[in-house]
Amino acid sequence: MIVAKRKPIEQIEAMLDGFQRILVVGCGTCVAVCMAGGEKEVELLAAELRMKAKLANRRQTIDEITITRQCDKEYLDQLAKHMGQYDAVLSTGCGAGVQFLAERYDDKIVLPALNTLFIGVAEGPGAWSQRCTACADCLLDQTGGICPMTICAKNLLNGPCGGTNHGKCEVDGQKDCAWTLIYRRLEKLGRLDLLKKVQPPKDYSVATKPGRFTHEAFQQAEQQE
Ligand code: SF4
Ligand code: SF4
Repeated sequence: MIVAKRKPIEQIEAMLDGFQRILVVGCGTCVAVCMAGGEKEVELLAAELRMKAKLANRRQTIDEITITRQCDKEYLDQLAKHMGQYDAVLSTGCGAGVQFLAERYDDKIVLPALNTLFIGVAEGPGAWSQRCTACADCLLDQTGGICPMTICAKNLLNGPCGGTNHGKCEVDGQKDCAWTLIYRRLEKLGRLDLLKKVQPPKDYSVATKPGRFTHEAFQQAEQQE
C-alpha cells in the first residue's frame, strides 16, 4: 500500500490562503488505511480548518467529501456535480491521486494535503515501513525476498559495503544491514549459493518515468482508439 502523512496544518492553511470556497476531498483506500486521508481524517481536517478560519476571521467555506479512490476516473467522475461550487480543492489522496484529480478537473486549483512517503506494509498498529521502490525489475527471487534496492541505504546488489557493523547499517545504526538480513534469510532457506551469483547492474531503462502499463487484455482496445 501507499503510505502518506498529513502536512502540518500551518502549511495547509497557507496553501488555502486567498480561497473562499474549498472542498476537501478524501480517498478511501491506501491513505485511509494509514490514517492520513480517509473519511475520518477528512472530517477532522475540515473541522480544524473551519475553526482556524473562524478564529482568524477569514470568510471561508470548507466542505468535505470522500470518494473510494482518487487514482480511478470512475470515482473522480462522482465529484463533477460538486466542483462548480468551489474555487479550490484540497486533496488528501497520495501524490498520484492529487495529480489525477487535477488532470480530471484541470480548471480547478488542486492542492495536496499529504506528503506521500512510500510503498510499504503495516508492521503493527499505526506503524508502517517501506518495502519496495517500484524499480520495475524485481530481484526478490535472488535475495530471499528482501529488497536491497529498498532496505540497503546504498542500493547495493552484490553484498554489503565495508561499513556494515555487527549486522547494523553504517548509514543508520538503528537499522539492520540489508545484506545481513539477506544472508540470514538465504541461510535459513538453504540458498546461500545465490550469493555466489553476481547481479548485473540494474537496468534503469525499464523504469523510465512516468511509468506506464497496459494489461495485455486491454492493449488491443487501446491501439484501436
Ligand atoms: S527489487 Fe525491490 S524495488 Fe524492485 S520491484 Fe522488487 S521489491 Fe520493488
Ligand atoms: S551497511 Fe548494509 S544496508 Fe547499510 S549501506 Fe552498507 S550494505 Fe547497505
